[in-house]
Amino acid sequence: TKAHVAAVEAARPLNAYVLETPEKALDMAAASDARIAKGEAGPLEGAPLGIKDLFCTQGVRSTACSKILGNFVPTYESTVTGNLFGDGAVMLGKLNMDEFAMGSSNETSAFGNVINPWKSAASGNKALTPGGSSGGSASAVAADLCLGATATDTGGSIRQPAAFTGTVGIKPTYGRCSRWGVVAFASSLDQAGPIAKTVEDAAILLTSMAGHDPKDSTSLDVETPDFSQYVGKSVKGLRIGVPKEYRVDGMPAEIEKLWQDGIDWLREAGAEIVEVSLPHTKYALPAYYIVAPAEASSNLARYDGMRYGLRADGKSLTEIYENTRAEGFGNEVKRRILIGTYVLSAGYYDAYYLKAQKVRRRIADDFDQAWQSCDALLTPTAPSAAFALGERMADPIAMYLNDVFTVTTNLAGLPSISVPAGLDSGGLPLGLQVIGRALDEATVFAVAGALE
Ligand code: GLN
Repeated sequence: TKAHVAAVEAARPLNAYVLETPEKALDMAAASDARIAKGEAGPLEGAPLGIKDLFCTQGVRSTACSKILGNFVPTYESTVTGNLFGDGAVMLGKLNMDEFAMGSSNETSAFGNVINPWKSAASGNKALTPGGSSGGSASAVAADLCLGATATDTGGSIRQPAAFTGTVGIKPTYGRCSRWGVVAFASSLDQAGPIAKTVEDAAILLTSMAGHDPKDSTSLDVETPDFSQYVGKSVKGLRIGVPKEYRVDGMPAEIEKLWQDGIDWLREAGAEIVEVSLPHTKYALPAYYIVAPAEASSNLARYDGMRYGLRADGKSLTEIYENTRAEGFGNEVKRRILIGTYVLSAGYYDAYYLKAQKVRRRIADDFDQAWQSCDALLTPTAPSAAFALGERMADPIAMYLNDVFTVTTNLAGLPSISVPAGLDSGGLPLGLQVIGRALDEATVFAVAGALE
């Protein structure tokens, strides 16, 4: 813990942490030592972790990296972080992220962008994004500023930053991890999960984070297996599906090649490769960017200047609401609220929101169909390597397109992991994604372990 506290301090220019909690960390580590001395060590005893600022942490400022939450200090602990700390983990601090987890580059944070520790001489050593929204989590793990980190994934926010930083990130099945105490973005899509250095670490962390929670009505009442026992298991005889619709136009040849390498590695390891079709893939991104903003506009209605954080002046209650929201929300969040209220409004609801829900059903059906002929799917995680900071901020559509391979599994609720699988010609990490059946993280971890 001491070494990590020092590393965090030394790496402030990366801006991965928005709040350092060194005293709390050292206290927690001392309590860990005491438990170890008594022979009562938990499975994560003394492991120093970073916590994405979307998780409410008792007595520790939690802002979702939005000005509107101001200095909000929760009086309660999220179930997921409570599970980790209950198993002995130590908190080093709160990690930077896109505001309310809306973004793919960590540039919408009220605390400023995060820098990816990876650089490419081929592109002039420009500062690169670590991806988003869990950019702080990914950057901190990649730069050894924690042993592992919590993250959340609504449309790719665990997996794409993992791919951009050469780390491992898994979004479990919807309902595996409790959403209680996690600031809501789009409730039917949000899932917590870990970002870690290895597949095994990710499995150990997820085993601790997961579990039924009566405080979240969408939490699944199922046993949590020890996921780490599946890492290193043979993939012999497993059928791995390769969805042809993921060969999108404009995908860099290097990513196409990496995908082929992954297919070859799994075949050599004894898996059977089958081509599958997920015909509604091309509608996933537009459907996601209707459903997610719709739910966000509803979830974010609670930030009214009365209950949490920031409160702006105004002559009437309505004016206080308006001024607080105008001042407190950043541009991307406002864009999502506008899109969300529009697609939910009378007259447009059927044309947009209802249609998007139908598409969502079709996408889930596509996966169900695919499971007839395969046990897991292999795809790239993102259509590019880490891009330069600032490069896509002026063009929201270009930013949204980066989520093309990740949003499908949020819409269908399926587990999916990103594993570092190689470097591009500029020396930047690229990730491969493994998707599994609902609640079959076991197979996902086995295949990910074989790719590592
Ligand atoms: N990039 C996607 C978005 O901006 C996904 C974000 C996430 O998974 N939290 O909505």
